[in-house]
Amino acid sequence: MKKTIFLSIAIALLPGTISFGQTIKIDWPEYTNYTNYVDTRSRNIEFQDKGIFDFAAIGVGVRNDFTGARLNGIKTENDSTLAICITPENYPINMSPWYSFKIWADSEKDIYIRLNYQQGRHRYIPKLSNDGKTWVQIDTTEILSSRKDPSALFRLNISPDTLWVSAQEMMCSDFTYEWIDQLSQKKYIKSITIGKSTQGRPIKAMSISDSDDKNMLVILSRQHPPELTGFKEMISFVETIAGDSKLAKMFRKKFRTIVVPMMNPDGVDNGHWRHNASGIDLNRDWRHFNQPETYAFRKFIKEEIEKNNATLHYAIDFHSTLTDLFYLKKPEDLPSKKVISWEFIEGINKVMTNNPIEPVPSDREGQNSSNWFINELGVEAITYEVGDNTNREVIKKRGEVAAFTLMTILLDKD
Ligand SMILES: [Zn+2]
Repeated sequence: MKKTIFLSIAIALLPGTISFGQTIKIDWPEYTNYTNYVDTRSRNIEFQDKGIFDFAAIGVGVRNDFTGARLNGIKTENDSTLAICITPENYPINMSPWYSFKIWADSEKDIYIRLNYQQGRHRYIPKLSNDGKTWVQIDTTEILSSRKDPSALFRLNISPDTLWVSAQEMMCSDFTYEWIDQLSQKKYIKSITIGKSTQGRPIKAMSISDSDDKNMLVILSRQHPPELTGFKEMISFVETIAGDSKLAKMFRKKFRTIVVPMMNPDGVDNGHWRHNASGIDLNRDWRHFNQPETYAFRKFIKEEIEKNNATLHYAIDFHSTLTDLFYLKKPEDLPSKKVISWEFIEGINKVMTNNPIEPVPSDREGQNSSNWFINELGVEAITYEVGDNTNREVIKKRGEVAAFTLMTILLDKD
């Protein structure tokens, strides 16, 4: 363990402040005789020391006392460089080191920031904002280190106006709940709370339907906190299904779309790299459902299907990775003859010729959401991955194209 003058990290076991989800046993049929078992029972995480850090000697202030922040320690390296420590909530963990902090200065000046990742390597290009709403990516010539370095050094121009610096745009649970409330003002959209996260935040769903609820499409997102690009494409996709086009109106008369836009609000609001508040990668908990977030989702979807005697036709789980791709199944690996995904990807790529999505076949072994849909419900599902650096205008456009493509396919097949 390195001895540093970084702030000590509070290892908060939080007795009494967190209610951990109960462990639920599910009897799985024979075919789920997996070889790559992942233990998803709750584990402890480290919380950040939150506060304002004043470096009077160099006239700079930094804070992490806001929702979604991540800054685990800070010190001056010299009079023009601040070293910031970014640690994961626990590990082993996927390499997606999230950071987010606010910075200001007595007077306008340039300063260097060095992000030191513990257990991680640099991945996200810094995004800047003055209000936490409008974000621009840093000019990449200001970054003096490369991806995969264990630290990142970049130059910032700071002033008395507070500057937000974040791995990706900040869109936390408050944004998501407001988005749901706003869309739910439409008469055909209902907001439903399907359960609570480990720390008690609501897991909210939307039901979009002008139909009798017999045919369903399911959308989920944000199991992994930093995966903003997938979240943004999901928003564009869902708003298109909820929109005023002729196709969307027809679709809503035949299909009910259920959306759970933020599966991991605790992870998002705590600025986690990957896990929920119990230190678990939720997208590895779709076999044992040890976590309240995945448990609530499974219970809700199964009940909706049973209650309405409905058919679930397709499911999409939005994520982000380095490039744009779909993890999908080869037709022969699917339980149903009605294969949607390959036609779906082809339809999108026909329009998005400059930003195609790559099909990547995956097996049915992993304990992720799409395999749960296929293995337990017999329903085709994909993991829809959007590149970290995909142009935000492309994301918006492709979300619309994807929604139009899928609505057409589902109506055709019906
Ligand atoms: Zn992911």
